[in-house]
Amino acid sequence: MIEDSLRKKAKKQLYKAAQEIKLDSNLLKILEKPKRILKISIPIKLDSGKIKAYIGFRCQYNDAKGPTKGGVRYHPDVSEDEVVALAAWMTWKCALLDLPYGGAKGGIICDPKKLSESELERLTRRYTTEIMPVLGPQIDIPAPDVYTTSKTMAWIMDTFSMFKGYTEPSIVTGKPEILGGSKGRKEATGRGVAIITREFLKARKKSLKGAKVAMQGFGNVGGHAALFLSQMGAKIVAVSDVSGCLVNPDGLDVPGLINCVEKHACVIKHPGKQIDREELLFQDVDILIPAALENQIHRKNAHKIKARIIVEGANGPTTPEADEILEKKGIHIIPDILANAGGVVVSHLEWVQALSGLYWEEKEINAELEKKMTKAFQHVWETAIKRKVSLRCAAYVVAIERIAEVYSYRGLFP
Ligand code: NAD
Repeated sequence: MIEDSLRKKAKKQLYKAAQEIKLDSNLLKILEKPKRILKISIPIKLDSGKIKAYIGFRCQYNDAKGPTKGGVRYHPDVSEDEVVALAAWMTWKCALLDLPYGGAKGGIICDPKKLSESELERLTRRYTTEIMPVLGPQIDIPAPDVYTTSKTMAWIMDTFSMFKGYTEPSIVTGKPEILGGSKGRKEATGRGVAIITREFLKARKKSLKGAKVAMQGFGNVGGHAALFLSQMGAKIVAVSDVSGCLVNPDGLDVPGLINCVEKHACVIKHPGKQIDREELLFQDVDILIPAALENQIHRKNAHKIKARIIVEGANGPTTPEADEILEKKGIHIIPDILANAGGVVVSHLEWVQALSGLYWEEKEINAELEKKMTKAFQHVWETAIKRKVSLRCAAYVVAIERIAEVYSYRGLFP
């Protein structure tokens, strides 16, 4: 692993904000540790007839504000360290957006690209069964993350429902609409990234018109963010995914790229000039959006970045060491817990719809998303100015102050 472990990095960010607001050291003792980490073995029968036992996790970091909420990731690099850090970030993100949720995250160490659909289904169903004791619409509600989809959520919902003996749509979010999924959820994280980018430029009396954007990762978050930003007038001049990187200084055809990914599961099958995948980060653009995995911008490559604005579509793409380098270079970073919060905002709306049995039109969902994201941005922006701190520190300050207020009323049991 490059530099600190992710968990250490998450703690550093928490400590910085805690210092800024002079957080009670007793409360910090609670917030620096996860409430619960479940590590499980997930044995499944492969199509070959052989049995393989995978390792999976679910971390529920803090539930002071409500049931815990967070995605499930299928990736070879999943680890306990990663899951705990991601669960901590979910906690701060939900607090920042003022949602009645705590934070969680789950994952399975596996390469989903090497598993058949039926193997993935068995893996998901067995994972659900193993975490069942700590799962529930008022306890912990999973959602999609890297290499999991609405279909994965449908399998989790079905497995949970089979055990309960009744259909429980509010156990997951990001599920297919026909099962009670929300309109606009699929696009929500990318839409939120675009809204926050637009608001940041507006606050600096600038506009998205003609702004050049490089997008690392072209999955759910990156693809949708690119689409909405291009609709707002930005020019997407470089995109990458695990397969490689495409560039076009005149702007890439974003809908064409989305079609290409739907068809071939990679961007490089789309016509265009290809460059080395790693070069995406160093393109001469106005805005760089890392929307793939964590630790992409680190001590060894931060100085090569030319973009003046970084919008963190992914969770944890910038290490604290890179943060310092970029800050010295005057590069603005819009932090993950703000920039990519659109997904959990609409997940909350999906949960409310499933609990009530009343479903809303996409227009209403998008209006609510717009309202929540712009409000959170304003709060972070004003806090950053007032306290003369980075946007990341300001976002943490807003989130931690909110959780501290919750504890001030709830106290500590017993
Ligand atoms: P996804 O699986 O849909 O897409 C991931 C993308 O990253 C793919 O295009 C993949 O090819 C690409 N990728 C992987 N490794 C890469 C590399 N080394 N270089 C370039 N590209 C690479 O996942 P997603 O849901 O879009 O999630 C992306 C990030 O956003 C993750 O950090 C996730 O935690 C975060 N996030 C997702 C959501 C959501 O609603 N899906 C919400 C908040 C945050």
